[in-house]
Amino acid sequence: MIGRKKKKYQGTSTQILLTQRPSLVSQLQGCIDGALKALVISGHFSSADCDDVRLPIHTPSQQARRFLDHVRSKGELAAKVVLQFIQQKQESGSQLNEDTVTPPKELFKYQKKLSSSVSAQSCFLSTYGGTSHMSLDDIYTEGQLELSHECVDVHGPLGVEDIVGTAGTMNKEADTVLVSGDAGSGKSTLLQRLHLLWARGAALQDFLLIFPFSCRRLNSEHRELSVQELLFQHCCWPDREQEEIFQFILDHPHLILFTFDGLDELKQSFSDEHRLCCPTQRAPVHILLFNLIQGSLMKGVRKVVTSRPEAVGPVLKKHLRKEAFLKGFSPSGIDYFVRKHHRDPTVAAKVLESLQTNTALLGLCHSPVLCWIVSQCYKELLGCGEGSPQTITDVYLMILQHFFQHQSSQSTLGIGWLQENLETVLHLGQLAFEGIATSCYIFTDRDLETCGVTEKDICMGFLIQSKDMSSTHSQRYEFLHVTLQCFFSGLYIVLSNDTDRSTIPKLFEPKGMREADLRSTCFSACLPSTYQQEQVLEGESTAVETLNLQITATFVSGLLSQRHQSLWIHCCPSAVIEKRAKQVVRCLSKGMQKHFKSIPQPVEGEKKSMHAMPGFVWLIKCIYEMQESRIAKDAMSKLEVDHLKLTYCKIGPVECTALAYVLQHLKNPVGLQLDNNSVGDVGVEQLLPCMHICNSLYLRNNNITDEGIRKLIAKGVQCDNFQKIALFNNQLTDACTQHFSHLLKTKQDFLSIRLGNNNITAEGAKQLAEGLKFNHSLQFLGLWGNEIGDAGAEALASALESSKSLVWLSLVGNGVGSAGACALANIIKNSTSLEELWLTENCITRTGVECLIQALKHNTHVKSIWYVMNTETYTHK
Ligand code: ADP
Repeated sequence: MIGRKKKKYQGTSTQILLTQRPSLVSQLQGCIDGALKALVISGHFSSADCDDVRLPIHTPSQQARRFLDHVRSKGELAAKVVLQFIQQKQESGSQLNEDTVTPPKELFKYQKKLSSSVSAQSCFLSTYGGTSHMSLDDIYTEGQLELSHECVDVHGPLGVEDIVGTAGTMNKEADTVLVSGDAGSGKSTLLQRLHLLWARGAALQDFLLIFPFSCRRLNSEHRELSVQELLFQHCCWPDREQEEIFQFILDHPHLILFTFDGLDELKQSFSDEHRLCCPTQRAPVHILLFNLIQGSLMKGVRKVVTSRPEAVGPVLKKHLRKEAFLKGFSPSGIDYFVRKHHRDPTVAAKVLESLQTNTALLGLCHSPVLCWIVSQCYKELLGCGEGSPQTITDVYLMILQHFFQHQSSQSTLGIGWLQENLETVLHLGQLAFEGIATSCYIFTDRDLETCGVTEKDICMGFLIQSKDMSSTHSQRYEFLHVTLQCFFSGLYIVLSNDTDRSTIPKLFEPKGMREADLRSTCFSACLPSTYQQEQVLEGESTAVETLNLQITATFVSGLLSQRHQSLWIHCCPSAVIEKRAKQVVRCLSKGMQKHFKSIPQPVEGEKKSMHAMPGFVWLIKCIYEMQESRIAKDAMSKLEVDHLKLTYCKIGPVECTALAYVLQHLKNPVGLQLDNNSVGDVGVEQLLPCMHICNSLYLRNNNITDEGIRKLIAKGVQCDNFQKIALFNNQLTDACTQHFSHLLKTKQDFLSIRLGNNNITAEGAKQLAEGLKFNHSLQFLGLWGNEIGDAGAEALASALESSKSLVWLSLVGNGVGSAGACALANIIKNSTSLEELWLTENCITRTGVECLIQALKHNTHVKSIWYVMNTETYTHK
């Protein structure tokens, strides 16, 4: 599991293999051959053992697991050899510096020039450029960076260095690391930090040269270039010996790093069809870029690419060395950021306090860009009392007002503040809207002029000058952040007289937008001819367009909600606003219906289940932005399922708020499956309003701690429908078990508790046992991969000894020995309900097994007991 704390090494080598299994699996990947050799030399492994481990059908992590299973069956000495091997490997350290390279003198000069340019470009954040100056050092806050779900064996949050490190490598042949995350999750800032640390000599010193690229800026390069020209013209020009320096780069690819920020913003979608191998051959920039990423050009040069996840297709995935997800700030990250932003601790404390009282807003602050806005607008936030922001639209309206306030001569803006600034809103809105429709994020003077953007509009601070490493271009502008461009685009759709009737329906069908020829859509009707020509030249646009349209649509929903309608008085006729609001409601309802229609009829005897399709969560979020329970109610009145599956849907606290807002109106109870998301404690709290409608809640692998469980159970005990919970792979410790104990005592209809792969010890098991003693309903109890040991097993056994409800018990991998097994044998003897007992991967010896077998003689209910891979290997069925 990712983000889980490492346990300390302890016990015999065999036990260590067991307790440290996940981290050993990750350490062994890539060096299985060496480990096998060590075991062959020490006489523990035969060549047949080696062949069995090396079976090519297995992935490296499967091989590592197989390997560990074999080692355990060989006993303590073999385990010791493996641990020694791993230790030696760790001590021998990284390989990057192994060759001694003597770079030419000119290269050092070039490196100096490059690093001072990189440093100058990265020491300030663009969002702090306009009204407040703050260095990256002063505000940088570690985001939550995690490896992709495929690398489940790698532990702990990743640091900047880990991005290029070996952890989580899935394909050793590939050079490209992808960092993906939503808009505003901090991808550009992370790269900026990486660049700055390198330029300062504080990190990534294995790389002599780092070349940073912005895909957004590469869009404006219309010439064909060679790799050499791309590097030198777009990043840093060598004053002398260009050829020698480039040759050095070619000869030492492992000393070079390229970064490409915002691959999703490139006008062309990634493709590996057009192959290019020669670094001196010229080609359009996107072709160069795609060949660099896939390694046909500059093989061996490490590349880090950032993108929104939706824009990464299977073709690109195949060329990835590894993938990491940036999930925004953790709760402590929010705290840290706010304290850094406000040097005055009293202000920081007030902002944090106000976030604690508005958990929906706290949820939004997990997104760094929203955390920045909230911190920036602290005066507005602290002044708004009860009406503090609930939705993303509220937050962006707050920054809109904040920037206008900043430029205003009055001390506070009056109620007509929007009307007073309407011209600016419409000018910037048109620029934003046309940009979104054509994937254009950098604007020339001419673009500004076409949309009527004046000097005064620019001074408001929403636009900033676009940075360019090569500085060959004339003045160019971009919005402070792409989400702000989407917001202005939304304002334009709501307020403009120029958009036609089909704009809103098309906005809510972004897929259709992409498939259709953009020139014939509503958007192009208002596009100036330059855009249209560009679009014709460039052909089909990328997936990011859909994403930006979705964000825009979310804002349009929020802006047209009843609660904001007073803002538009005097800005747009109320009949128009009403009509547009109705259009949005219709689109949302139609969108939902489409999803419901796709639900397959259940096979007889099975539950009717809906697996969320792409776009479902987005629609839910749009409904939430409207803040009208009538719409949520209406949408849910047509959803009839028993099980709602939203696994791997990137559900964070913000999505939880929206989900609970909408799902609370479901007519019948459902099983809500949210496994493998980033719900966290704040998300759990957000889900509480819909708990009454959940009969089962699946929250496997969601970074939930004891605090989240405290809140969840406090609510859960009051919910009649609530009967099952699965929390495999979270961050739970003994502290959560008192709450489960309370749940068990209170709810005599609770059926299933699954707490596998957490950090529960004997103490926790004893607490659980306290609850179990008084419970007569629990059927399933899963504690796989905890550490309850003999004492914990004994406590559970004594509580469950004569259970008439328990059907299934798993204590796999819990360090249970024979004493525990003998105690558990009493359940087998006495329980009239138990059917399956799982005791795999413990340390039960012959004595324990004999106790179990004896007990079985007295029992007719138990169908299977599993105890393979104990110190001695047995199975009994
Ligand atoms: P993305 O590239 O994912 O869209 P950005 O990196 O542009 O997101 O982040 C948007 C804004 O959020 C930044 O300009 C900054 O104000 C804030 N931000 C993002 N990440 C961090 C961070 N790690 N520390 C401090 N502020 C951050």
